[in-house]
Amino acid sequence: MTERATTARLIEVFSAIQGEGPIVGTRQLFVRFAQCDLRCDYCDSDRTWLAPDTCEIEQTPGARDFVTEPNPVALAQLLAWVQRLDRPNLHDSISLTGGEPLLHSPFLQQFLPAIKQVCALPIYLETGGHRPQQLEPLLPWIDWVGMDLKLPSVSGETHWAAHEQMLRLCVAAQKWVFVKAIVSEATTLADLTRSAELVAAIDPHLVYVMQPVSPLPAPIKPDRQPPQPPIPAQVLQWQQHLKQWLPQTIVIPQTHKAIGQL
Ligand code: SF4
Repeated sequence: MTERATTARLIEVFSAIQGEGPIVGTRQLFVRFAQCDLRCDYCDSDRTWLAPDTCEIEQTPGARDFVTEPNPVALAQLLAWVQRLDRPNLHDSISLTGGEPLLHSPFLQQFLPAIKQVCALPIYLETGGHRPQQLEPLLPWIDWVGMDLKLPSVSGETHWAAHEQMLRLCVAAQKWVFVKAIVSEATTLADLTRSAELVAAIDPHLVYVMQPVSPLPAPIKPDRQPPQPPIPAQVLQWQQHLKQWLPQTIVIPQTHKAIGQL
Protein backbone atom coordinates (compact mmCIF):
# COMPACT_ATOMS: atom_id res chain seq x y z
CA MET A 1 0.00 0.00 0.00
CA THR A 2 2.89 2.39 0.63
CA GLU A 3 4.92 3.54 -2.35
CA ARG A 4 8.22 3.66 -0.50
CA ALA A 5 9.06 3.80 3.18
CA THR A 6 10.09 7.43 2.79
CA THR A 7 6.88 8.70 1.21
CA ALA A 8 3.19 8.42 2.00
CA ARG A 9 -0.04 9.58 0.44
CA LEU A 10 -1.96 11.96 2.69
CA ILE A 11 -5.43 13.47 2.71
CA GLU A 12 -4.71 16.45 4.95
CA VAL A 13 -2.68 17.91 7.80
CA PHE A 14 -4.49 20.38 10.05
CA SER A 15 -5.21 21.51 13.60
CA ALA A 16 -8.62 20.82 15.15
CA ILE A 17 -10.56 19.82 18.23
CA GLN A 18 -10.83 16.10 18.79
CA GLY A 19 -14.46 15.14 18.28
CA GLU A 20 -14.52 11.50 19.35
CA GLY A 21 -13.56 9.23 22.22
CA PRO A 22 -12.28 9.85 25.75
CA ILE A 23 -9.98 12.73 24.77
CA VAL A 24 -12.83 14.61 23.10
CA GLY A 25 -12.36 18.36 23.30
CA THR A 26 -8.57 18.29 23.26
CA ARG A 27 -6.64 20.06 20.52
CA GLN A 28 -5.03 17.78 18.00
CA LEU A 29 -2.57 18.16 15.19
CA PHE A 30 -4.15 15.76 12.72
CA VAL A 31 -2.19 13.87 10.08
CA ARG A 32 -4.84 12.12 7.98
CA PHE A 33 -3.43 9.34 5.81
CA ALA A 34 -5.00 8.21 2.56
CA GLN A 35 -6.32 4.72 1.83
CA CYS A 36 -8.37 2.25 3.80
CA ASP A 37 -8.77 -1.47 3.24
CA LEU A 38 -12.09 -1.67 5.11
CA ARG A 39 -15.50 -0.60 3.87
CA CYS A 40 -17.56 0.11 6.98
CA ASP A 41 -21.24 0.74 6.27
CA TYR A 42 -21.18 3.90 8.43
CA CYS A 43 -17.96 5.35 7.03
CA ASP A 44 -18.01 9.15 6.95
CA SER A 45 -14.48 9.27 5.50
CA ASP A 46 -14.95 7.42 2.21
CA ARG A 47 -12.96 10.21 0.52
CA THR A 48 -9.94 8.57 2.19
CA TRP A 49 -10.47 5.14 0.63
CA LEU A 50 -8.42 5.76 -2.48
CA ALA A 51 -4.98 7.30 -3.02
CA PRO A 52 -5.34 10.88 -4.26
CA ASP A 53 -2.71 12.75 -6.25
CA THR A 54 -2.89 15.75 -3.93
CA CYS A 55 -3.38 16.56 -0.24
CA GLU A 56 -4.50 19.64 1.69
CA ILE A 57 -2.05 21.22 4.11
CA GLU A 58 -3.11 23.86 6.63
CA GLN A 59 -0.58 26.68 6.88
CA THR A 60 -1.68 28.25 10.19
CA PRO A 61 -3.19 26.11 12.97
CA GLY A 62 -6.98 26.42 12.91
CA ALA A 63 -7.08 29.07 10.14
CA ARG A 64 -8.23 26.61 7.43
CA ASP A 65 -5.80 28.28 5.01
CA PHE A 66 -5.17 25.05 3.15
CA VAL A 67 -2.69 24.78 0.31
CA THR A 68 -2.94 21.87 -2.14
CA GLU A 69 0.28 19.85 -2.36
CA PRO A 70 1.22 16.84 -4.52
CA ASN A 71 1.17 13.25 -3.27
CA PRO A 72 3.11 11.22 -2.30
CA VAL A 73 4.69 13.32 0.44
CA ALA A 74 8.32 12.91 1.45
CA LEU A 75 9.16 12.25 5.07
CA ALA A 76 11.18 15.47 5.45
CA GLN A 77 8.29 17.47 4.00
CA LEU A 78 5.77 16.06 6.47
CA LEU A 79 8.18 16.71 9.33
CA ALA A 80 8.41 20.35 8.26
CA TRP A 81 4.62 20.75 7.99
CA VAL A 82 4.02 19.24 11.42
CA GLN A 83 6.71 21.43 12.97
CA ARG A 84 5.14 24.54 11.39
CA LEU A 85 1.74 23.77 12.98
CA ASP A 86 3.24 22.78 16.34
CA ARG A 87 2.85 26.06 18.24
CA PRO A 88 3.68 26.40 21.94
CA ASN A 89 0.92 25.41 24.38
CA LEU A 90 -1.59 24.63 21.61
CA HIS A 91 -1.83 20.93 20.83
CA ASP A 92 -2.35 18.03 23.20
CA SER A 93 -1.14 15.37 20.79
CA ILE A 94 -0.46 14.44 17.19
CA SER A 95 -3.31 12.31 15.87
CA LEU A 96 -2.46 9.77 13.19
CA THR A 97 -5.76 9.10 11.48
CA GLY A 98 -7.22 8.11 8.16
CA GLY A 99 -8.20 6.11 6.30
CA GLU A 100 -6.11 3.49 7.98
CA PRO A 101 -2.75 4.88 9.16
CA LEU A 102 -1.32 1.39 9.66
CA LEU A 103 -1.34 0.85 5.90
CA HIS A 104 1.62 3.24 6.06
CA SER A 105 3.54 1.33 8.71
CA PRO A 106 6.87 1.29 6.81
CA PHE A 107 6.65 5.07 6.42
CA LEU A 108 5.66 5.52 10.06
CA GLN A 109 8.65 3.43 11.15
CA GLN A 110 10.76 6.22 9.68
CA PHE A 111 8.52 9.18 10.51
CA LEU A 112 7.73 8.52 14.18
CA PRO A 113 11.33 8.32 15.49
CA ALA A 114 12.12 11.46 13.48
CA ILE A 115 9.15 13.48 14.76
CA LYS A 116 9.93 12.42 18.35
CA GLN A 117 13.33 14.09 17.92
CA VAL A 118 11.82 17.48 17.14
CA CYS A 119 8.38 17.51 18.76
CA ALA A 120 7.40 16.71 22.35
CA LEU A 121 3.73 15.96 21.66
CA PRO A 122 2.35 12.50 22.43
CA ILE A 123 1.50 10.35 19.41
CA TYR A 124 -2.13 9.21 19.28
CA LEU A 125 -3.02 6.48 16.78
CA GLU A 126 -6.62 6.11 15.57
CA THR A 127 -6.97 2.73 13.86
CA GLY A 128 -9.60 0.34 12.58
CA GLY A 129 -7.97 -2.23 14.86
CA HIS A 130 -7.44 -4.92 12.23
CA ARG A 131 -3.70 -4.71 11.47
CA PRO A 132 -1.77 -5.81 14.57
CA GLN A 133 1.29 -6.89 12.57
CA GLN A 134 1.64 -3.37 11.21
CA LEU A 135 1.20 -1.83 14.66
CA GLU A 136 3.78 -3.92 16.49
CA PRO A 137 6.94 -2.27 15.10
CA LEU A 138 5.48 1.19 15.79
CA LEU A 139 4.59 0.67 19.44
CA PRO A 140 7.84 2.10 20.87
CA TRP A 141 6.88 5.53 19.48
CA ILE A 142 3.14 5.50 20.03
CA ASP A 143 1.71 6.84 23.29
CA TRP A 144 -2.04 6.39 22.96
CA VAL A 145 -4.15 4.03 20.83
CA GLY A 146 -7.82 4.46 19.98
CA MET A 147 -8.81 1.08 18.57
CA ASP A 148 -12.05 0.58 16.68
CA LEU A 149 -13.89 -2.58 17.47
CA LYS A 150 -15.90 -3.31 14.36
CA LEU A 151 -19.24 -4.85 15.31
CA PRO A 152 -20.27 -6.96 12.29
CA SER A 153 -23.97 -6.14 12.68
CA VAL A 154 -23.23 -2.41 12.26
CA SER A 155 -20.08 -2.14 10.18
CA GLY A 156 -20.38 -5.09 7.80
CA GLU A 157 -16.76 -5.90 8.79
CA THR A 158 -15.63 -8.84 10.97
CA HIS A 159 -12.17 -8.74 12.61
CA TRP A 160 -12.51 -10.37 16.05
CA ALA A 161 -9.15 -12.19 16.03
CA ALA A 162 -7.21 -9.15 14.82
CA HIS A 163 -8.90 -6.92 17.40
CA GLU A 164 -7.93 -9.33 20.16
CA GLN A 165 -4.35 -9.52 18.94
CA MET A 166 -3.99 -5.76 18.67
CA LEU A 167 -5.46 -5.14 22.10
CA ARG A 168 -3.12 -7.72 23.66
CA LEU A 169 -0.13 -6.05 22.00
CA CYS A 170 -1.10 -2.62 23.33
CA VAL A 171 -1.74 -3.84 26.86
CA ALA A 172 1.51 -5.88 26.92
CA ALA A 173 3.40 -2.77 25.78
CA GLN A 174 1.66 -0.77 28.57
CA LYS A 175 0.16 1.73 26.14
CA TRP A 176 -2.90 3.74 27.03
CA VAL A 177 -5.52 2.11 24.83
CA PHE A 178 -9.29 2.30 24.61
CA VAL A 179 -11.77 0.64 22.29
CA LYS A 180 -14.53 2.36 20.36
CA ALA A 181 -17.54 0.61 18.89
CA ILE A 182 -20.01 2.38 16.61
CA VAL A 183 -23.57 1.34 17.41
CA SER A 184 -26.72 1.72 15.33
CA GLU A 185 -30.29 0.49 15.49
CA ALA A 186 -28.99 -2.70 13.81
CA THR A 187 -26.53 -3.55 16.61
CA THR A 188 -27.10 -7.01 18.01
CA LEU A 189 -26.78 -8.00 21.65
CA ALA A 190 -24.67 -10.96 20.51
CA ASP A 191 -22.08 -8.61 18.97
CA LEU A 192 -22.00 -6.40 22.05
CA THR A 193 -21.60 -9.40 24.34
CA ARG A 194 -18.81 -10.87 22.26
CA SER A 195 -16.98 -7.55 22.15
CA ALA A 196 -17.27 -7.09 25.91
CA GLU A 197 -16.02 -10.62 26.60
CA LEU A 198 -13.09 -10.08 24.24
CA VAL A 199 -12.01 -6.82 25.92
CA ALA A 200 -12.65 -7.97 29.50
CA ALA A 201 -10.57 -11.12 28.98
CA ILE A 202 -7.60 -8.87 28.23
CA ASP A 203 -8.23 -6.10 30.77
CA PRO A 204 -11.64 -5.37 32.35
CA HIS A 205 -10.48 -1.88 33.32
CA LEU A 206 -10.14 -0.66 29.73
CA VAL A 207 -12.39 2.14 28.55
CA TYR A 208 -15.07 0.99 26.08
CA VAL A 209 -16.63 3.85 24.13
CA MET A 210 -20.03 3.28 22.57
CA GLN A 211 -20.47 5.83 19.81
CA PRO A 212 -24.00 6.12 18.38
CA VAL A 213 -23.65 6.35 14.63
CA SER A 214 -24.05 9.78 13.05
CA PRO A 215 -26.57 9.80 10.18
CA LEU A 216 -24.92 9.97 6.76
CA PRO A 217 -26.24 12.46 4.19
CA ALA A 218 -26.37 9.69 1.55
CA PRO A 219 -25.63 5.94 1.33
CA ILE A 220 -21.97 5.20 0.63
CA LYS A 221 -22.82 1.78 -0.83
CA PRO A 222 -25.47 1.53 -3.52
CA ASP A 223 -26.78 -1.78 -2.16
CA ARG A 224 -26.82 -0.84 1.56
CA GLN A 225 -28.89 1.66 3.45
CA PRO A 226 -26.76 3.77 5.83
CA PRO A 227 -27.07 2.73 9.49
CA GLN A 228 -29.52 4.71 11.58
CA PRO A 229 -28.79 5.87 15.14
CA PRO A 230 -30.16 3.73 17.98
CA ILE A 231 -33.00 5.08 20.08
CA PRO A 232 -31.95 6.40 23.53
CA ALA A 233 -33.56 3.46 25.36
CA GLN A 234 -31.40 1.02 23.39
CA VAL A 235 -28.23 2.91 24.30
CA LEU A 236 -29.16 2.88 27.98
CA GLN A 237 -29.81 -0.86 27.92
CA TRP A 238 -26.60 -1.61 26.02
CA GLN A 239 -24.45 0.45 28.39
CA GLN A 240 -25.96 -1.40 31.35
CA HIS A 241 -25.32 -4.72 29.58
CA LEU A 242 -21.67 -3.91 28.78
CA LYS A 243 -20.91 -2.66 32.27
CA GLN A 244 -21.36 -6.20 33.56
CA TRP A 245 -17.94 -6.89 32.04
CA LEU A 246 -16.49 -3.42 31.55
CA PRO A 247 -17.26 -0.86 34.27
CA GLN A 248 -15.68 1.89 32.17
CA THR A 249 -18.25 1.73 29.37
CA ILE A 250 -19.05 5.27 28.31
CA VAL A 251 -21.23 6.77 25.58
CA ILE A 252 -19.75 9.59 23.49
CA PRO A 253 -21.27 10.71 20.17
CA GLN A 254 -19.28 12.54 17.51
CA THR A 255 -19.06 16.11 18.77
CA HIS A 256 -17.11 17.84 16.00
CA LYS A 257 -20.13 17.59 13.71
CA ALA A 258 -22.34 19.19 16.39
CA ILE A 259 -20.13 22.28 16.35
CA GLY A 260 -19.71 22.29 12.59
CA GLN A 261 -16.00 21.59 12.69
CA LEU A 262 -13.93 19.86 10.04
S1 SF4 B 1 -11.97 1.91 9.01
FE1 SF4 B 1 -12.59 4.07 9.13
S2 SF4 B 1 -11.97 4.98 7.13
FE2 SF4 B 1 -11.96 2.74 6.90
S3 SF4 B 1 -13.98 2.24 6.05
FE3 SF4 B 1 -14.09 2.00 8.29
S4 SF4 B 1 -14.83 3.98 9.07
FE4 SF4 B 1 -14.10 4.31 6.94
